[in-house]
Amino acid sequence: MHNHPILVLGGGQLGLMMAEAAIHLGVVVDRLDTANDKLMPGTSNLRVDTTLDFLVDRYAVITAEMEHLPDSGLVNGLRLSERWMNGSAFDILPGRNQQKRLLDEIGVHNAPWKMLHAQDDMLSAHDSLGETLVVKTTRGGYDGKGQWVVSRGDDQDIPASAFGELIAEQKVSFSREVSLVGARSEDGQTLFYPLAENHHHNGILRFSIAPAMGVGKLGDSANFANLANLQSEAERMLTKIMTKLNYVGVMAMECFEVDGELMVNELALRVHNSGHWSQTGSCVSQFNLHIRALSGVRFPQEPVYQPTLMINLIGCEYHPRWHQIDGVHCYWYGKERRAHRKLGHINMTGSTSFEIQQKADALRPLLDAEHQSMLDKALALINSH
Ligand code: AMP
Repeated sequence: MHNHPILVLGGGQLGLMMAEAAIHLGVVVDRLDTANDKLMPGTSNLRVDTTLDFLVDRYAVITAEMEHLPDSGLVNGLRLSERWMNGSAFDILPGRNQQKRLLDEIGVHNAPWKMLHAQDDMLSAHDSLGETLVVKTTRGGYDGKGQWVVSRGDDQDIPASAFGELIAEQKVSFSREVSLVGARSEDGQTLFYPLAENHHHNGILRFSIAPAMGVGKLGDSANFANLANLQSEAERMLTKIMTKLNYVGVMAMECFEVDGELMVNELALRVHNSGHWSQTGSCVSQFNLHIRALSGVRFPQEPVYQPTLMINLIGCEYHPRWHQIDGVHCYWYGKERRAHRKLGHINMTGSTSFEIQQKADALRPLLDAEHQSMLDKALALINSH
């Protein structure tokens, strides 16, 4: 399969970063903007048609950078073609209810839940799941959108028309959120990054620290044993999921840590924001790994990792001096600025927490107050370990 062109459905930053990674592997990755069925320059820079026959003929592998695909003639045609990768994962995982049903079926622990067919189901959901629920749309919600945290009798913010396409989840009291990003090749080989610890604000990921134990904790043997247990548990869970779906590529598993055990929050069948740290913290980034899996390039045998702090740039102004600081890696997506929108991210990698602290100190004056407070929170966590 190596050298065969890949088509990614979607016009966002994830596909663009896949194309960038593909350059190093000699693989052509183009992108299709599903909003208007126009091909976007990837690594081939060719102007080509976007008829179904042409695309299926030109691309050996067709995948997507997003799970919620539009119901258009071209996209549906591509999904039915033999080039479409991971068909059952794309059929099942985008529906929260179907995803959770699959996890239950294969015995992977996830937040207890119930389908809400009608408003009346709220009562029985509270009875079985608890006084506070997290209600989520079965499709389309992300970054905290399409979600309501409700106490008993306090569900008036949920539009009545949404019932039938909602689930209620138990509100989990977690000690922290972690995610595992890993990949599976066509012949079943797997590779996992160390768990990352993730911090959200208003449902949006603000920063990730990898490895999840925090940087300074690396030398502490008791913590090392705990983290090693958590890591193998997470790998066992994600292997089970990817194997069940016969999945090829990178998948991300977001989890709650509850009393030292993992509970899946949700799965992303693609590269994931909580894996962006790997662009500088690993010798093989998640984008590179995804393209390797899709084009049959072997995984590295013993990838090297370095502790990394990734902070997301949300709704803020671009600062040209971000690109001037040594060892601070800024990725700016060139998107239109809007409040609460992910506009870029910054990676700080170092072999010690002190090195990361130094980079963060240089970056701090170039951030607005909100991002400074996120950075301080992340550093406090790193230094507390
Ligand atoms: P999601 O879009 O499902 O990833 O949710 C965004 C964030 O909301 C998560 O990262 C959690 O911080 C929080 N959250 C989602 N579901 C639950 C839950 N069942 N219990 C507690 N917090 C939740």
